[in-house]
Amino acid sequence: MKGPWLDRARLAAALLVVCIHTSPLSTYTAAGDFLLTRVLARVAVPFFFMVSGRFLERDGWAGLGRLWRRTLLLYGGAVLLYLPLNWYNGGFSPLGWVRALLVDGTLYHLWYFPALLLGLPVARGLRRLGVPAALALAGLLYLVGLGGDSYYGLAVRVPLLARGYDALFSVCSYTRNGLFFAPLFLLLGAACPRMRPRRAALGLALALAAMAGEACVLRALGVQRHDSLYLLLPAGMVCLFALLLAGNRGRDRLARRLSVEVYLLHPWAIVLVRMAARPLGAWGLLVENSLGHFAAVLAVTALLAWGAELFRPARRPGVARAWRELDRDALFHNAKTVQAALAPGCRLMAVVKTDGYGHGAAAAARCFRRAGVRAFAVACADEGVALRRAGSRGTILILGDTPADQAPRLARWRLDQAVADEAHARALSAAGTPLRVHLALDTGLRRLGIPAEDRAAVERVCRLPGLRVAGVFTHLAMGSRTDAEAEAYNRRQLEAFYGTAWWMEARGLPTGRLHLQSSCAVGTLPPQPCGWARVGIALYGAACGETARYPLALRPALAVRARVALVRPLAAGEGAGYGLDFRAERDCRLAVVTLGYGDGLPRDLPHRGGRVLIRGRSCPMVGWMCMDQTLIDVTGVPDAAPGDVATFLGRDGAAEIRAEELAAQCDTIPNELLSRLSPRLRLVYRRARGSE
Ligand SMILES: *Cc1c(COP(=O)(O)O)cnc(C)c1O
Repeated sequence: MKGPWLDRARLAAALLVVCIHTSPLSTYTAAGDFLLTRVLARVAVPFFFMVSGRFLERDGWAGLGRLWRRTLLLYGGAVLLYLPLNWYNGGFSPLGWVRALLVDGTLYHLWYFPALLLGLPVARGLRRLGVPAALALAGLLYLVGLGGDSYYGLAVRVPLLARGYDALFSVCSYTRNGLFFAPLFLLLGAACPRMRPRRAALGLALALAAMAGEACVLRALGVQRHDSLYLLLPAGMVCLFALLLAGNRGRDRLARRLSVEVYLLHPWAIVLVRMAARPLGAWGLLVENSLGHFAAVLAVTALLAWGAELFRPARRPGVARAWRELDRDALFHNAKTVQAALAPGCRLMAVVKTDGYGHGAAAAARCFRRAGVRAFAVACADEGVALRRAGSRGTILILGDTPADQAPRLARWRLDQAVADEAHARALSAAGTPLRVHLALDTGLRRLGIPAEDRAAVERVCRLPGLRVAGVFTHLAMGSRTDAEAEAYNRRQLEAFYGTAWWMEARGLPTGRLHLQSSCAVGTLPPQPCGWARVGIALYGAACGETARYPLALRPALAVRARVALVRPLAAGEGAGYGLDFRAERDCRLAVVTLGYGDGLPRDLPHRGGRVLIRGRSCPMVGWMCMDQTLIDVTGVPDAAPGDVATFLGRDGAAEIRAEELAAQCDTIPNELLSRLSPRLRLVYRRARGSE
């Protein structure tokens, strides 16, 4: 059963925190209360940390600064919110304030915020060491934390440890904080392994049962100083998280917000219930009876959360004027489809140059990564750096020429560089920074590359100091054609390529992995004995060459849409647009649509038979396209109205405009059409189901 389980679980975790602070079962069963509040509910806060860790890992921790500032803001708000209670409780000494603000939190549940604020940079620092080392070190810190928490009585039997913990507790009240507690769970969330749901559920049940046993023994021994950390808690959390991840799909923003509101507001609810219970004559029911108390606190929390929702400033970004709508499932499907068509041992290198052919390079790379892709190609160093910054690991190959003075930058961001010719190779080598390079062999395209027949040059380049050859590649000139002439030319290029590559191997020169196929060649050539195929346009769902003859079943991944700004009548004989280029032959209705050539479509598209889809019907563009707007004849769609969506590319109901058709109309290929789309078009994700 797929659903937004992570978000729903956040709400459940917030309710567990309320349980910790209200002990709903205590009137009825001491053992049940212990198991609920001291064992089960201890998963709640680690879960919050894990969600944050996972969120950060997804874009290579690029979101750390934002999350940190947001947490700080929320913490500041919460501190102010609870100031009256601090005042009522007598406040802190000046030093006490410092300690409360920086470590313990100014009210019992607020420790979470300073723990996250410290835990985030600590986890980030550890993560730079690689996942295994980071987890090992965070695990060690957690062990230190354990000794100061539920294993305290055992730890302090060692005099040295006793003195250490004494010193520690003069600074903070608990080890459940940003140093000993948060980093492990942040990192576990970031690196949580995938598990089969059944196995994860079984693991979770076993871990929780064992943790209950652990808690009972520790309690019986009387060694606990506090009871937030257990030895088995991390194992249980990994199983729980893996179980939720296995079924997770989409998000539930309301559940997210409610979880924050419940977490933040419930202590006020506890105070309010106590204040109201006596005047209402319901002290017994609402305070002394644990279940009644819990229910009352929940009800008041819900009321407060509802109030908070009412006053929440509307933060929706508003409807964009024109946008690109990315179908991530289609990208995933295409990557899987292309992978399945490659020879065994040949892996997919996803080409994401020019902002992922207009699909958003970072978003596209994330989808490909989910489909198992570990290598990417871009056109230039800037694109490579941007991709790294967005969190792509693995190989990133720069296909274009990069001046040698950029060598330190290539090394710093671990970017592989294509070697354009011998002079380029010498310059890169002379830069003195060790680099990973791929030798481009020119076998007939006559673009970049060392001429494949110049084996002496190839050997000289291979022997240059500081260059490590990670690949040898070529690019076909006639890959998109299947006629006899093209086939013959392809064969000559393949012979030249393999001839030199195998000669290199025989001579003991390093070749790394071979690669030559692009999208066209994946369709036209039999599977190749290569290590990679560099595929671009096919991943984005557009066929190379004739759609009908392309052998893979691909799905278009992008729609381009805009809005109808207004609709107005035009009388027969009247003109419209620049130069009054359009003349109405009969009375008609024109819609002004908010997308123009500034968004990347050609200005003469209306004269080339350009059309858009409005309310599932195809309508002609008229006049010259403007920079930011286009005129559409909507006479055939009587119900067309301002606010309607106009689709320039993609599906609307049963109608569809495919990139291949639109490109043909513009006298070009889908590659050009898509890569020209302007970044001004906001990138949005298509919802999982329907709602186009
Ligand atoms: C752009 C490019 C590709 C990808 O081509 P598609 O036709 O989009 O698959 C492959 N190799 C090189 C050298 C490229 O420049």
